Amino acid sequence: TAPVLELRNVVKTYSVKQGLMGRPKPLTAVKDVSLSLGRSEVLGLVGESGCGKSTLAKILLGLEAPTSGEVLVDGEALGAQDRLKLARRIQPIFQDPYSSLNPRKSIADIISLPLRVHGIGDAASQKQAVREILDVVGLPSRVMNTYPSQMSGGQRQRVAIARALIMKPEIVICDEPTSALDVSVQSQILNLLGELRREFGLTYLFISHNLAVVEHLATRVAVMYLGRIVEEAETGDLFDNPRHPYSRALLKSVLTPEPGLGVPDTQLGMAYPNPINPPSGCAFHPRCPLATELCKTRAPRPVPQDGGFVECHLYDRETEMFEQA
Ligand code: SF4
Ligand code: MG
Repeated sequence: TAPVLELRNVVKTYSVKQGLMGRPKPLTAVKDVSLSLGRSEVLGLVGESGCGKSTLAKILLGLEAPTSGEVLVDGEALGAQDRLKLARRIQPIFQDPYSSLNPRKSIADIISLPLRVHGIGDAASQKQAVREILDVVGLPSRVMNTYPSQMSGGQRQRVAIARALIMKPEIVICDEPTSALDVSVQSQILNLLGELRREFGLTYLFISHNLAVVEHLATRVAVMYLGRIVEEAETGDLFDNPRHPYSRALLKSVLTPEPGLGVPDTQLGMAYPNPINPPSGCAFHPRCPLATELCKTRAPRPVPQDGGFVECHLYDRETEMFEQA
């Protein structure tokens, strides 16, 4: 089947000023990323903060234009779609529901805003739609006349989900949707997102810095490092057999319940590199326990692996590291 969401060779470069007197320098947040999502798939996009995953989310939502490359929704270029059609296809859920919900508006006003912006229905039908969507996300209709400050973090995230779903989108971009919540509430919201996906056949791009969070929901996982997708695989395959040294390190930090116990991962403990001055060759080499001289000078290419790919010299038959591995 044709992908519902597709990125083709997307590049995003910003001009960043360092300090008051600094000359602007280019920062490439997304470096030639291609991704494709089939209907009802959940792609988990994982990486540390600063890797470019939120930039990718903004590009997918049409909030930022790529410097080059294409974004296709249902096979149609994102830029060519009208705003109403786009809002019906793709909606966001962001990390911090408190800052994304207007504190002066009632819950009913917040949830119905997309309908009012796009002039869908009259006041009565909008109210009815709010009532129905509150039920879908597990909130009682009496919260309609309350305000965000009167709600718990979990309830506010349910409101944000309701606001996204009231447009009946096909695709939902979830950017760290549970990171601001307590662990017990996190799993409730993850379960809710899973149920909604089954009920409405939703397609998710699920962005997180935490591999454990995407494991339950994602059908595939893409691991991002300094603007590149360095590995993509079926979820079970990635957890059973992580190939990229960075994926292995991320997985190890998930599996080690307390930092300091188990195998210490001093390499990854190093600070994340500054994206303005990315390392030469393989950008992961300063933190990689398996790096060689070749890694410092030559960037690895994506190498196909069953159902996905990995970008590391260790897997590339044409490089000398393959012989040594
Ligand atoms: Fe490590 Fe080299 Fe592979 Fe990069 S290419 S991940 S530095 S082994
Ligand atoms: Mg982010």
